[in-house]
Amino acid sequence: MQPNCIFCKIVAKEIPAKIVFEDEHVLAFHDLHPQSPVHVLVIPKVHIASLAHATDEQSALLGHCLRAVAKIAVELGVADNGYRTVINTGNDGGQTVHHLHVHLLAGRQHGWPPG
Ligand code: 5GP
Ligand code: ZN
Repeated sequence: MQPNCIFCKIVAKEIPAKIVFEDEHVLAFHDLHPQSPVHVLVIPKVHIASLAHATDEQSALLGHCLRAVAKIAVELGVADNGYRTVINTGNDGGQTVHHLHVHLLAGRQHGWPPG
């Protein structure tokens, strides 16, 4: 756990979140400021600052996060219509919380290119 990391605090249940899925390796919860009717964040429980900080040893964990996204989409009933997955990385990527997270956005048509 990284001190002062808001998502580590959510993992530790020190800060409340609307959790939609949890297993040994990942936690998923609704975004505080949803950008779509469904906006869930899927995070590894271990602190990884960004995708750029993930190591080869964490490849399976990254895959596990993506599988969790797909399963949650089914659970939430949005898989058939489709959804957008986003990982913002670093400054130009627009990352604001420095604990790796995958955005799962659904429930509306998402445009391309993103802003
Ligand atoms: P980023 O901009 O880093 O890709 O995404 C960070 C996301 O975390 C944003 O969509 C923001 O709304 C969300 N967020 C920030 N703080 C909290 C929080 O305390 N709880 C929850 N559930 N979401 C948060
Ligand atoms: Zn963290």
